[in-house]
Amino acid sequence: MSKIGKVTVLNILACAMIIFTAVVVFWLLAKNNLFTDFIKDAENKSFDYRQKVLTGKKSNFLTKNNISVVTVDDVSFEYLWDKYGEWPIPRDVYAKLIDRIEQSNPKIIVFDLLFIKSLKSSAAADKKLIDTVNKYDNIYMAMNFDNIPEDARKPLDLPSRLQVKVDNQSGNNLVSNMTFSNCRTILEGLLNGRANVGIANVNRSTDGIIRTVSPFAYYKGNYYPYLSLLAGDYLLNGKFSGVYAINENSELTVGGREIPITPDGEVILNWYGEAGRVFDMVPMYKLLLDIENGQNSFDFKDKAVYIGTTATSLHDTKSVPVSRLYPGVEIHATFLNNLIDNNFIKKTSLAVDIVLCSILALITVFIVFASASAIFATLSTVMILVGYTFITYYLMYISNLWAPLVLPAIIVIIAFALSYIIKYIIKSRDFEYQYKLATVDGLTDLYNHRYFQESLKQQMETAKRYGTSVSLIIVDIDFFKKFNDTYGHQAGDAVLRQVAQVLKKNVRTSDIVCRYGGEEMSIILPNTNNKEARTNAERICKAVAEKPFKLNAADESHVTISLGVATFPQDGEIPKDLIETADRGLYRAKENGRNQVGAPE
Ligand code: GH3
Ligand code: MG
Ligand code: MG
Repeated sequence: MSKIGKVTVLNILACAMIIFTAVVVFWLLAKNNLFTDFIKDAENKSFDYRQKVLTGKKSNFLTKNNISVVTVDDVSFEYLWDKYGEWPIPRDVYAKLIDRIEQSNPKIIVFDLLFIKSLKSSAAADKKLIDTVNKYDNIYMAMNFDNIPEDARKPLDLPSRLQVKVDNQSGNNLVSNMTFSNCRTILEGLLNGRANVGIANVNRSTDGIIRTVSPFAYYKGNYYPYLSLLAGDYLLNGKFSGVYAINENSELTVGGREIPITPDGEVILNWYGEAGRVFDMVPMYKLLLDIENGQNSFDFKDKAVYIGTTATSLHDTKSVPVSRLYPGVEIHATFLNNLIDNNFIKKTSLAVDIVLCSILALITVFIVFASASAIFATLSTVMILVGYTFITYYLMYISNLWAPLVLPAIIVIIAFALSYIIKYIIKSRDFEYQYKLATVDGLTDLYNHRYFQESLKQQMETAKRYGTSVSLIIVDIDFFKKFNDTYGHQAGDAVLRQVAQVLKKNVRTSDIVCRYGGEEMSIILPNTNNKEARTNAERICKAVAEKPFKLNAADESHVTISLGVATFPQDGEIPKDLIETADRGLYRAKENGRNQVGAPE
């Protein structure tokens, strides 16, 4: 019994140590944000993967929504450098471009270029640009906020016409990472003129990849809109509303579209494809040549025309989920495209995430406990993971929903491992219980007859192999029938139990004490010769005779036993012979007056 007990304790100790170590590791990771950061980064990567896989599919059903990008690409940059010998180029070139594009009636023209004050720029060329921009009401200019120290650059007050009101009913923090202390202003003539000015700042995730933009920036107590939000508002509404409402469900309504806003006040972009693959790209040099040659090869009617740079040497490229190098201007165009299609990405809420994780964990636990085979359980768990991955993919495909993938996967794996450990503990405990039932006598707690037979056989074989001896003592309680008749069966049972204890106490731990049947008991004594066994038997006989046995709470009585002894090899080569010899010894003891060890033959 002691052996079985030890195994159980070791099992439980091992499990406890595994769980304890896991808890400590999790606690340390959580304490240093390593775990949460790891999950966030991995989740973002899984988002990128879903987006990449989906881009091929999306291009089948998503339109380009009449968005053109006039771009200073590598070739145009070389052309402009050759022609003007400087960058930025004189601003009147853009004036020419604007006039040319406006001639074909575009919806809007959006500049993702910063026309900041420059020592190099010529005042006349700047004025030409300003005058041209002010001729139209559908031109959008970019501006940037930053956090340059005040002693390096004085933060300017911006004209109130650039500010917007935000009616935020959502409780989301709109400016968690978009509050700025300084700004990089553009030409005053543009700031104070007719041009619509929006903010071009973008957000990077912790891994440096741009997945979101914030619709609003906060500067000196006021909200300023993201450039493409402003442009989209005009495009969809025909005018700029000036007030933005975010409802309780964290949706920003613009032109009948509902943009999901994250708790950090961000908009998650839905990426339609790699750089240069989604929008109509018009290299700027081609357009300039077209103007110079008096031709009209490009039609911008009803289009949203973005103007920006894609040349690698101009460093306005970022990493986004679908491209390592993605021009800033295409990020703007992507926002507008998402807005028109009402196709922004929405993340599942925390409550939904918890429900998802719980359901997956429960299914996993159920499978582990219900399946008899480890391979089946493992394969099923892998199927759950693969199946759930497909579900998250289709959720994004069908409803632009970003359901978490990494945390649920980790929880499924943990649930799998833990339920296996627990199942193992329960199983081993069950096994021990079954084993005890099969080998131990319920009344006396001694080994039963079956165990006795097997042990005797085993011990005799061992003794034969090693040339040692093994002895057997058979014990029978004297006049026990009468005892039962006198004191009742309950008292008889109590005495049986106590006699068993006396036997156990008077033998070595290596000796095996069994209930042979009825009120007969047997003791197997490995490595014990006949003389030693007889001495032992005498001692046991005396111990029983001297002990007062409790019959119930009040009464005590004495009983005696008779014993027979046999030893391998001298008394027999097989268990049957040994038992018969011991039985004969027992019979002699009874014959001889009981309460004694039967004399040798
Ligand atoms: P002796 O061995 O000295 O010749 O006399 P005895 O009365 O003990 O005779 P025998 O071995 O034939 O009787 C065995 C009795 O033991 C019969 C039965 O009443 C009693 N007995 C056997 N098993 C149990 C048990 O589990 N509980 C109780 N209370 N009595 C039992
Ligand atoms: Mg008997
Ligand atoms: Mg008896």
